[in-house]
Amino acid sequence: FLPNLVASLEQVEQTYIMVKPDGVQRGLVGEIISRFERKGFKLTGLKLFQCPKELAEEHYKDLRAKPFYPKLIDYITSGPVVSMAWEGVGVVASARKLIGSTDPLQAETGTIRGDLAVQTGRNVVHGSDSPENGRRETALWFKEVELCQWTPAQASWLRE
Ligand code: GDP
Ligand code: MG
Repeated sequence: FLPNLVASLEQVEQTYIMVKPDGVQRGLVGEIISRFERKGFKLTGLKLFQCPKELAEEHYKDLRAKPFYPKLIDYITSGPVVSMAWEGVGVVASARKLIGSTDPLQAETGTIRGDLAVQTGRNVVHGSDSPENGRRETALWFKEVELCQWTPAQASWLRE
């Protein structure tokens, strides 16, 4: 009874993960999707997408005042991205760990940025930094009809 109650109180989170244009151009889409898929999170949305400037500006609005902001908008809109929505208990923080530090040279080996990138301005992947931003960014990048509610066959082998 008690373990079931505790489990039901655990919050299912959403996070927005994006393979940035450098990751797409470098042929890393499958590799990056695999890392989240193998971990055991649930994919609820996926698309190749050319991001319009307005959307890039909204997504990164908190960084407006940074000196690198114009370059960041150019980077994100420079080619198609792969947009993903992932769901699960603890998915936001866990995805950030899988991604690694913002600067790929500081990112631990074994993380996506640590293994696959060398510079902050080309760090191949984005991940939401809080459950609130996970919901906000998923809603920003996906229409409701683009998101699927489904039960993976392996669900009972991932969580007791
Ligand atoms: P993240 O959450 O780890 O992606 O990092 P931030 O939210 O701090 O920054 C968002 C994105 O802006 C980063 O992933 C980089 O692509 C870019 N960025 C951050 N800092 C710098 C910087 O100092 N120089 C450049 N060129 N880009 C940066
Ligand atoms: Mg961030």
